[in-house]
Amino acid sequence: MKQNPKLQTASNSPPAYQGGVTIKSSEELEAMRRAGAVVAETIAILKEAMKPGITTGQLDRIANREIRRRGGSPTFKGYRGFPGSICASVNEEIVHGIPGDRVLQEGDLLKVDVGATVDGFIGDSAVTVGIGRISEEAERLIETTRQSLEDGIRAAKDGARTGDIGDAVERCATAQGFSVVREYVGHGVGRFLHEDPQAPNYGPPGRGARLRKGMTLAIEPMVNVGGWKTRLLADQWTVVTADGSLSAHFEHTIAITGGDAEVLTRI
Ligand code: MG
Ligand code: MG
Repeated sequence: MKQNPKLQTASNSPPAYQGGVTIKSSEELEAMRRAGAVVAETIAILKEAMKPGITTGQLDRIANREIRRRGGSPTFKGYRGFPGSICASVNEEIVHGIPGDRVLQEGDLLKVDVGATVDGFIGDSAVTVGIGRISEEAERLIETTRQSLEDGIRAAKDGARTGDIGDAVERCATAQGFSVVREYVGHGVGRFLHEDPQAPNYGPPGRGARLRKGMTLAIEPMVNVGGWKTRLLADQWTVVTADGSLSAHFEHTIAITGGDAEVLTRI
């Protein structure tokens, strides 16, 4: 039977996000786990390929292939017109770099952000990797940013607030003399890439949205060697540090549980 094309379009397009915090059912959390696993596996494969001489566009094609091979689709492709399957940001670029012809060089700091939609639910995760040998300062920046994410995840407990996560992230980064980006923040994630609440990478503790069991969040510290201010490049996507200093970014999608948060994008 021929379907009414209008009805078909309506059933194929996701419902528009109405705002507000969504609490995921156990079935929805299962789908979030599958999406998270696809993202984690894709990032693991990308890490193997991140060597001097490869272009960010080649990494983009690998990610697209690996996500689709696992039954997912790259969430970022076409999101508000974004052209890539992944974001690839180098050195002073913080987030939202567009993959292309740029050849990675020894000493570069590469941030790769991957989103995959599986059965209607999204996993969102990012890593920073040094290409070949990198400076001691770059190593310390990467390690600190990774640790700040772990500290943030540890603070993400049922009953705590988003400010507690941000405070934990900020303390870790500033203890090393680095700054955290304030103009871009973590976020709720689920059927939509960006849901409520916002999850800033700074305090104060005890403020912000209350965390509840079944909430799923993308926690994503962006940490700069220099100041926290950012600038947008002419491509209207790539966010760079205003002072040109190095930046690192790590991100996991987590679920709030009755105990420690469950990390959905870790394998
Ligand atoms: Mg992301
Ligand atoms: Mg995110």
